[in-house]
Amino acid sequence: MLSDAELEQLRSILAPKQNIVVCCHKSPDGDAMGSSLAWASYLRRTGDEGRKVTVVIPDSAPDFLRWMQGYKDVVRYEKDKELVQTLLDEADLVCCLDFNMLSRTEMMQDALAQCEAPRLLIDHHLGPDIETVMSISHPEKSSTSEMIFCIIEQMGGYDDMTRSEADNIYCGIMTDTGAFTYNSTDPAIFYIIGRLMEKGVDKDEIYKKVYHNYRMSALKLRSYVIWRKLRYIKALHAAYFTLTKAEMERFHYLKGDLEGLVNEPLQVRGMKLSISLREDTEQDNLVLVSLRSSNGFHCEEMARTYFNGGGHADAAGGKLYCSIKEAEAIANKAILAYRGKL
Ligand code: 5GP
Ligand code: MN
Repeated sequence: MLSDAELEQLRSILAPKQNIVVCCHKSPDGDAMGSSLAWASYLRRTGDEGRKVTVVIPDSAPDFLRWMQGYKDVVRYEKDKELVQTLLDEADLVCCLDFNMLSRTEMMQDALAQCEAPRLLIDHHLGPDIETVMSISHPEKSSTSEMIFCIIEQMGGYDDMTRSEADNIYCGIMTDTGAFTYNSTDPAIFYIIGRLMEKGVDKDEIYKKVYHNYRMSALKLRSYVIWRKLRYIKALHAAYFTLTKAEMERFHYLKGDLEGLVNEPLQVRGMKLSISLREDTEQDNLVLVSLRSSNGFHCEEMARTYFNGGGHADAAGGKLYCSIKEAEAIANKAILAYRGKL
């Protein structure tokens, strides 16, 4: 993945660094957590004695990722701003993993922007826009975790890779490919999976920890959305749902309960676009948007044009600062505007 010149550059950037912060985007998913934890572990075991590496995240990961080795030592900005500020003040390198714009770290954005330490970006989102000393951006890769595997391997770090690094990398690749149902046609991914399993990764166990971890109320909330809230625009092969804070409260919503639900309408034959619109649980007049596409339609441009967002060709997101009703109107307008392609 890296050319010889890039490898050399990366080596020379990393070698002298003693105080490294590794960070990822808000609402970290399996790939953000997996890549950050594995990269931090690699940096610790390969640095000079006394090298300090801390993973900093804007807010907590969902319950189904908290088993990940190293999660309990992660510092959360929303909980401990002062500690994060101290870590950033002391840092001689900030690694930005799995995001392409500082705004993706939301509440942590200003602290990162003001931090004087050089930045290293490792990411697979389209259109990276962060000032760095080195940007390793590969939108064709399934996940940042896959990139971390390739980098560690190219740096000669595979032999000493730990079981937990392998578990975390596996989890990141698994979650960003929907357990190998999309973004995973490159045979190299399965070579990597084989190499991870040689380290002892129990793939079925990780699958269970991540995907078979609902509370009954979460399963009911998800079913309620599909049963009562899904709007299907059959002629345009599109579907969307809206969800209010009150509805989520009715089902005792906890962070992560709706993870991946936006993918489910794509199970309908021929479906090209699925949109999730849900009220933020903390901020009024903020609607969180997720988009997924299939069957030759690509939703990333729609996310940028209509939802103040972006992401990947077929998995994107954004935000709207309005009521859920207004958000629904915008979604309808976006779907209609793309009727030629849907
Ligand atoms: P999800 O729907 O799982 O929250 O996000 C899917 C993808 O959309 C993410 O991997 C990320 O690339 C992108 N994304 C989600 N929310 C935002 C956002 O607010 N802004 C931008 N630029 N991208 C987003
Ligand atoms: Mn990712």
